Order: sequence, then C-alpha cells, then structure tokens
Amino acid sequence: MKQPVLYIVIPCYNEQEVLPVTAPLFLEKLESLIGQGLIAPASRVMFVNDGSKDNTWPLIQRLSAENEHFEGLCLSRNRGHQNALLGGLMEARSRCDITISIDCDGQDDINAMDEMVKAYHEGCEVVYGVRSKRDTDTFFKRFTAEGFYHLMNWMGADIVFNHADYRLLSSRVLGELAGYKEVNIFLRGMVPLVGFKSTSVYYERHERMAGESHYPLKKMLALAFDGITSLSVKPIRLITGLGLLVSVLSFIGVVWAVAASFAGMTVAGWSSTICIVCFMGGIQLLCLGVLGEYIGKIYMETKARPRYIISRRTWEEDEEESR
Ligand code: UDP
Ligand code: MG
Repeated sequence: MKQPVLYIVIPCYNEQEVLPVTAPLFLEKLESLIGQGLIAPASRVMFVNDGSKDNTWPLIQRLSAENEHFEGLCLSRNRGHQNALLGGLMEARSRCDITISIDCDGQDDINAMDEMVKAYHEGCEVVYGVRSKRDTDTFFKRFTAEGFYHLMNWMGADIVFNHADYRLLSSRVLGELAGYKEVNIFLRGMVPLVGFKSTSVYYERHERMAGESHYPLKKMLALAFDGITSLSVKPIRLITGLGLLVSVLSFIGVVWAVAASFAGMTVAGWSSTICIVCFMGGIQLLCLGVLGEYIGKIYMETKARPRYIISRRTWEEDEEESR
C-alpha cells in the first residue's frame, strides 16, 4: 500500500490565542498518522494566514522554523475563510496526494482524521466530516446553523447536512475543483458538484479552545446568501412565481373593482388603493433586489479577478535564508 502525502490545510484569521494551543495537537495527529503508516513522512500541516492583524503570521513563521512538518502561506490581505481555504488547497494540490481542511480553533475533532484517511485507502476521494451533534453550541447557534442547511437545500444548493469545511479531498478532486473558475465561492456546495466516490465520517463538535468566533450571524447570513445565489437560480424562479401570483390577485382585484362600480357601490377606496400601491412597490423592490444580486454576481464573475493573492511562503523564505 502506497502511503499518501497528506497536507492538513488550516485557514487562520487573528488566531494568536488559539494557534499555540492547537498547532501542537495538529502536529501530534500528523505524527501519529505517520507512525501508523497511514500517510507518508513528507506530510505537512499548512497554515494559511488570511491577512491577520495580530501576531498570527509571526507565530506561523516561528512554527515552520521550529519544525519541518509545519508550513505557512500568507495571503496579501483578508479574503475570508472560503478564499483562504481555497488558496491553501490549490497550493497544496501539487505537493500532496490528499488534503484535509480544518479550522484552527480545535472545534472539529482531529481524531476523525484517522477514519478519513482510512476511507481514502478504501477508495474514497472525498470524505465529508459531519457533526453528529451540536450539544456544545448555544441554542441560537444551533437553531440558526441548522436552519441554514435547510434553507440552503430548499433553495436548491445541494449540501451535506451538518458538514462544514472539515473534509478530505484527493489531489485529483482538487485538480477538477481548480477548473471551477467562479469568484463567489462556496466550497461546501462546489465539492459535491465535482463528484467522485465520497463518504462521511461523524464526529462531535467541541467548544473553541481559545479566541472568539469570526462567524457572527451577519457573516453567516452573507455566506448563506452567497451560497444560494452562486449555486442556484431558484430565487429567480420563486420571484417569477410570486410575480405570477400577485398578477392573478391583482386581476381578481380589478374585476372586483369594476364590478363594484357597475353595481353602483361607490368605493371610498383611498386606503385600499394605498395598500395595493405599497404592496406592489414592495414586491417590485424585492424582485429588483434579487435580480440585482445576480447581476452583481455576473459583474464580478466577468471581471475574473484572482480570488486570493499569496504574498509569502515559509518554504521559500527558508530557501532564501539558506542561500
Ligand atoms: N477564518 C479565516 N478568515 C476569516 C474568518 C475566519 O481564515 O475572514 C478562519 C478562522 O481562523 C477559523 C475558521 O476560518 O480557522 C473558522 O472561523 P471561526 O472559528 O471564527 O468560525 P465558526 O467556527 O465560529 O463558524
Ligand atoms: Mg470555529
């Protein structure tokens, strides 16, 4: 059995509190996987610094100087979790056989990695890490997060329930993923589109080991909106349906008004008129908003700007130093 080279890809944004706690745990896991003969000794933990404003990058540099199993990548500025993760995965692609992406806060159980790698040995090229329960989340977080998956699925974005971005991907899948050139990326929705044999492993989600979440409700809603509008056109179809419904209702209203005036019922209808005007105005604005969202997306996609820019790599700096 050939041992695959594994890269654990970890996006980090302002994580100076949690990185010193979790980095040794990732290393320990990597060494244990190497020890079990599941992965090759050339495997690495790769941190992607997503334009942090604190000491995250110096920390990553220090880690990579101390241990060859650590590597670091620095984006030129903050581009958000999805872009940072994609940047890391694309860098890792040519250097490894498999990647596992995971957050750096220790919330996802690293022990699920053993099972993920074993699933790869059994022929799976995509392994989704799925949360078995959400006991440690607050009621609000759980409610909003689970609502998020239901909303996404209902809106036509086909995603794995309770799976975030903890997953194993083979370099072949990454190669195919590289062909998806969109700027608005939502990896959870894109990976299932790539296909290949996949499976899920289940794990319990813990509390953050230190630091604070960077995904408040506002960002989560933005992610959901991006996910829906970049994967599906269902909202546009819903709007068409809504428009149709409103038209039918208005038609009935008009018939009623004409009939009423013929019947000699003088309608003192100022308020009802205003209601209808407001209602129509509201619907139209809503429709325009959603259409505008798609047009905005088209605009961004046609620009085809780079999704991330890498400014530094620890392994290159090491070479420069040794020169
Ligand atoms: N993250 C990132 N860029 C950002 C925000 C977050 O790279 O702009 C990283 C962050 O460092 C962490 C992961 O994305 O490793 C998930 O973020 P967080 O734990 O804050 O989100 P939550 O788990 O609360 O949803
Ligand atoms: Mg987290």
